[in-house]
Amino acid sequence: MSQPRAEALIAQLAERELDALLVTNLVNVRWLTGFSGSNAVALAGPGVRRFVTDFRYLSQAAEQVGESWEREIATDLLGRVAEGIDSETPLRLGFDDEDLSVKRHATLAGALPGSVQLVAAGGIVEQLRAVKDAAEIAKIRGAARLADAALEEVLEAGLVGRTEREIAMEIEFAMRRRGADASAFSPIVAAGPHGALPHAVPREVPIPAGTLVVIDWGAQLDGYASDCTRTFATGELDPRDRAVYDVVLHAQEEALAAVRPGPTGREVDAVARAIIDDAGHAEHFGHGLGHGVGLEVHEAPRLSKQGTDVLAAGNIVTVEPGVYVPGAIGVRIEDLVAITPEGHEVLSGLPKELRVVT
Ligand code: ZN
Ligand code: ZN
Repeated sequence: MSQPRAEALIAQLAERELDALLVTNLVNVRWLTGFSGSNAVALAGPGVRRFVTDFRYLSQAAEQVGESWEREIATDLLGRVAEGIDSETPLRLGFDDEDLSVKRHATLAGALPGSVQLVAAGGIVEQLRAVKDAAEIAKIRGAARLADAALEEVLEAGLVGRTEREIAMEIEFAMRRRGADASAFSPIVAAGPHGALPHAVPREVPIPAGTLVVIDWGAQLDGYASDCTRTFATGELDPRDRAVYDVVLHAQEEALAAVRPGPTGREVDAVARAIIDDAGHAEHFGHGLGHGVGLEVHEAPRLSKQGTDVLAAGNIVTVEPGVYVPGAIGVRIEDLVAITPEGHEVLSGLPKELRVVT
């Protein structure tokens, strides 16, 4: 399983004139080697595949990390990596500068032979992780389906009169009962004016009738996350709130239609942003359109004003425009989408027409 990934990584190293990469970020270690424990590093380069963990993970590493890796057990992981490096040959060793602390970097530099040059090389594994293989897509599809079924189960008992926090906890329980490793993130359940906070924390406050409720939730299954948002009505709405919903739905559907290999994240973001701007809500859509999802809930590529990555087959991204009217309501509609060679496959299964749940 890790074989083609290590090869893809080594091809990237050649482009950057690196002889090897020291991978310290645990999510990157997991992607590269299959190891899901909490303490390990990996070193990969042409002819070099070393994996170092501590004694607690002796048997887990033997189960999860493939034969192509030389597995080592040590207390001081970076010290062990340094010891194993040939001291005579000049070597450009990349390290993950977004992960390795200044302190660990100094310790590593002190332990390495003088012939080794440490080169900041963060982001290489993250860029590779952005393109999912079929097995990863299947896992994320499974997480999305599980999350959909869990929410449907919770909605059966209604929303009005139950607290935001109660609904959030019920969603987490329902996902765990259905076999999720965990909730991929703390669910957002935000009614009325509280929905105008994009990252609202659920409150011990009953959900009223006749307003909008934003629910953003996701499951983690076999290490992979899902992420979806639906906004529900709890009865008859003020026509202004209904109009906001229609604008967001239109923006979401148009942006979704633009998702395919070729455009940049910024270009797809602009599709939704133009519709929301034209409706007079430019200042009410302050976040990006979406993000990649995989082993982490937020990863490459970004779909935002800053998104320069070109979308490619194998990316899994969210499309989640929102309009947040302070003091009134918020609406966000988010789908999880796999980009295919021909276009895309929507992994989120719940309908997007405004649904009334009382
Ligand atoms: Zn979300
Ligand atoms: Zn999201």
